[in-house]
Amino acid sequence: MVERQLEARGIKDRRVLDAMREVPRHLFVPAAHRERAYDDCPLPIDERQTISQPYMVAWMTELLRLEGEETVLEVGTGSGYQAAVLSKLARFVFTMERIPLLAEAAKKRLRDMGIENAEVVVGDGTEGLLEHAPYEGIIVTAGSPSVPPRLVEQLVDGGRLVIPVGSSAVQMLTVIEKRGDKTITREEGSCVFVPLVGRYGWER
Ligand code: SAM
Repeated sequence: MVERQLEARGIKDRRVLDAMREVPRHLFVPAAHRERAYDDCPLPIDERQTISQPYMVAWMTELLRLEGEETVLEVGTGSGYQAAVLSKLARFVFTMERIPLLAEAAKKRLRDMGIENAEVVVGDGTEGLLEHAPYEGIIVTAGSPSVPPRLVEQLVDGGRLVIPVGSSAVQMLTVIEKRGDKTITREEGSCVFVPLVGRYGWER
């Protein structure tokens, strides 16, 4: 997976590649799809949600440019796989999931794997997680119609938000860097995610 799907497509950050080698993806995939856990595609999880394609996880993670001392917020815990990868690359990861059943399952997986620097929080991640803000990095793993303002507010100066923005059919992977009271926005390429549902996302 790492050589053929990630390195071959241009993922260069050694720490990201090592983290993706280290985290056993099959433990995050439902038994019915486990034999496809390392395939080059997203896979279904419960509640009609998905675990993202390995390349998408690596690409978004690389865009955060983590060095190891950061506090990171993920919106869209899903299976917990992205959070497990982030836990290898940052000091602490808060990950938010709006569907309690998915949050509980992810919490158990992360605990069973002995990951102690990640916490799963149930709630609407479009509001961010003010009690632990600010964050050096925020990553949203669901597609949003626009950039939720609370997420930009909860970044440190110099922090980065990685988020798919667009229609429900296709989004642009967007990086927003906070510089004082200004932001610098870069569009990295197109992607397709399940909808971000919440106050600053799509309606239910
Ligand atoms: N990162 C996940 C993984 O590694 O398995 C995949 C995320 S899945 C593509 C998107 C997730 O975002 C779903 O589990 C969905 O329930 C969740 N979600 C959607 N809107 C949300 C919101 N406002 N707050 C938190 N989670 C949300």
